Amino acid sequence: MYESRKQKKILLKNANLITESGETLTGQDLVIAEGKISSGGDCVFDQVIDCTDYYVTPGLTNLHCHCAMNLFKGIAEDVDADTWFNEKIWPYESRLEAEDVYVGTKLGIAEMLNCGVTAFADHYFEEEAVLQAVLELGIRVDLAPTVFGSAPDFPERLRAVSDFCEKNRRVSGRVSLRMGPHAPYTCPPPFLEKIVKRAEELKLGLHLHVSETREQVEQSLQSFGKTPFAMAAEAGVFAYPTLVAHGLWITEEDFKYLGEETWFAFCPKTYGKFAMGTDFMFPNRGRISYGFGTDGAASSNTLNPCEQARFFAMLGKYGAKDPCDYAAREVWQALMRGHGAFSFGTGKLTEGSPADLVIWDLKKPNTWPVYDPVNSILYSSEPSNVAYTMVDGVFLKEQGKLVFDEQALLEEGARVQRRLLKRGQGQAKVIY
Ligand SMILES: [Zn+2]
Repeated sequence: MYESRKQKKILLKNANLITESGETLTGQDLVIAEGKISSGGDCVFDQVIDCTDYYVTPGLTNLHCHCAMNLFKGIAEDVDADTWFNEKIWPYESRLEAEDVYVGTKLGIAEMLNCGVTAFADHYFEEEAVLQAVLELGIRVDLAPTVFGSAPDFPERLRAVSDFCEKNRRVSGRVSLRMGPHAPYTCPPPFLEKIVKRAEELKLGLHLHVSETREQVEQSLQSFGKTPFAMAAEAGVFAYPTLVAHGLWITEEDFKYLGEETWFAFCPKTYGKFAMGTDFMFPNRGRISYGFGTDGAASSNTLNPCEQARFFAMLGKYGAKDPCDYAAREVWQALMRGHGAFSFGTGKLTEGSPADLVIWDLKKPNTWPVYDPVNSILYSSEPSNVAYTMVDGVFLKEQGKLVFDEQALLEEGARVQRRLLKRGQGQAKVIY
């Protein structure tokens, strides 16, 4: 259990630090005390780690995730996005119970900690179960309970989500909350406006899917005469801190709607798998604030932001027909920049910053020898290169192993999977 783990005074001795801009500083001593990076002071430590052979970086962030959906990874491959959702995933998903979401979320968090993720943005239902999993395992979350405007229980759902946010506003320094309208097309104007109004009253940001596919934009133009970005803007979304999942098919006119605190979560592996197209958003990336998300593992199979960054570079270079574009430093900075979308103040290795970091062991066959550690991490690393993951000054992965019982978690996962298959497919409540 997380709460029984204490923040210790730790010395990371003689470390090679890689900053958020991609600069390497060798021979650095880093002191962790009371959950923060500090200058040291006295020299009595609970733990000293010789980091001569290690690289220390800020933690990774996952800006868009449906964590519990990793229960469905691999259940539906080689189909288009509509079939994937309406025929394969949603029928099972519609019968998920709170305990399934709890176990699925814990599995997802375990995978993310293995990959060096210290904070993730989740967008899902059964938010109590998601929160419980987060509090137990110790990662940070930016949690947006999903709301469908077109669902018959919309008023009750909006009330429940508002109550949840109010109740848990200060539940932990590792938790922040947002309202999570699913998307403009599943939350038509009056519904989206109501959700935004609640966000304003509760002083919360928003997290929603916008313009994921070309079809969504065409459908929106046909039904409302406006793009999904225009719909979201009219409902007031961009006046508040907003995480836009994807935004892949943003149009030239849409850029004017974006606010100062609008962040995009790019999930390139999903775009590749669903052949969603990268023609517009990728070349316009310099005009927006973006980081990487993984989406649910049902579509992208893994919850590893570093892998998404790698895909981003590949798809970008390939699409631009230019191997010099999407340079490693640019991609690294985008990977690190995700912290800016959150309110945790994480993302730096400087004094006073929250101690959310990764210690990489690159002395392994897949990454050794190292010429440039940023290149090695971006292009060669695997989760097995993450030796330590620290959140809020506490190691949640240590010496290459998660600090909680991974085997018990896998068994819980197997039990939930058996139950899901036995329960079978239900009726989709909302058609995308
Ligand atoms: Zn999504």
